[in-house]
Amino acid sequence: MHSLCVIPGDGIGPEVTEAAVTVLQAVLPDLHIEHAEAGWGTFQRCGEAVPQATLDAMQRCGAGLFGAVQSPTMKVEGYRSAIITLRQRLKLSVNVRPVRSRPLVSPKPGVDLLILRENSECLYSGREHLSAEGVAVAERVITREACLALAERAVKVAKERGAWRITLVHKANVLPLTCGLFRDTCRAVLKDAGFEAIVDERLVDVAALQLTEAPERFDLILTTNLFGDILSDLAAHWAGGLGMAPSLNWGNGCALAEPVHGSAPDIVGTGRANPLAAMLSAALLLRHHWGLNNEAELIENAVERFLAKERQVDFAGQTTRRITMGVLAALG
Ligand code: NAD
Ligand code: MN
Repeated sequence: MHSLCVIPGDGIGPEVTEAAVTVLQAVLPDLHIEHAEAGWGTFQRCGEAVPQATLDAMQRCGAGLFGAVQSPTMKVEGYRSAIITLRQRLKLSVNVRPVRSRPLVSPKPGVDLLILRENSECLYSGREHLSAEGVAVAERVITREACLALAERAVKVAKERGAWRITLVHKANVLPLTCGLFRDTCRAVLKDAGFEAIVDERLVDVAALQLTEAPERFDLILTTNLFGDILSDLAAHWAGGLGMAPSLNWGNGCALAEPVHGSAPDIVGTGRANPLAAMLSAALLLRHHWGLNNEAELIENAVERFLAKERQVDFAGQTTRRITMGVLAALG
């Protein structure tokens, strides 16, 4: 039996996770579910964004579904974004972010790429301080260990999807030590695995332009944390926007599915949250963490069929409900 820890979080998080759980249960009827809390609301109630009980529940289940959390943009003493804490504390070292053209919602057909992003360090290492009045410093930490973890997952994913190109995205011309370590470590692992012929490199700024101009030129992209964060939101445009962008935080023995979008305070409570990103994130958990490829495809194909037969994306304030009913119907 599979266990899932559901962490709804703030804003539209509870709305989209509920929809995704309904769909997950349709393909996995004996799924055992636990609920746990995290986020800004949790921090305000109990002084911690990620209580120990939530970490314990995640460890117990070995798998989770996260909604979204809200974070203030100014420094709040003792607060740190819950999702970043979860990634680091649970050692969810790799983030999987596929981007595919979908009927109805995509601005362009033919895009099918996957960004694998390092998930625990880089400028998100949490080492930020004021070194003097008017001087703020953030340390960009890159370790061989984290690059190895990323590259090893890339080998697995490249085999599974029959990758035809692997693009390493970095900025080694300006950051030769950090980006150089990333590039050289990834290259060595990919070479050992027999992928040398399809490995390619791009500087991050050029990659951003090309992802805008010709996203179909990319297949598997490997990059560091901050670059991957930005490029994956950009690439999500081709899938139909943030409401369509899934991700999986992937560790050893533990994984956390997470829609790329945030808590969307502007639409919370209106019924307009698109739950497809959360549903497709659940599908990533099925495929990559539990190895349940058939169940993952059932969900992905149901989403595809649902979109193919819809005529308009505007669900007149009934988005979450209409989409959930539609996907359940397409599942049969
Ligand atoms: P956001 O993703 O919450 O919203 C950006 C825009 O996209 C908004 O107009 C929103 O309505 C729309 N949108 C997002 N998800 C949608 C969905 N499922 N269906 C329909 N529309 C959707 O990003 P933001 O506005 O920059 O940030 C809001 C809050 O979320 C901030 O506090 C931020 O820190 C937080 N955030 C959290 C995460 C996370 O939990 N992983 C990620 C990004 C931002
Ligand atoms: Mn992001």
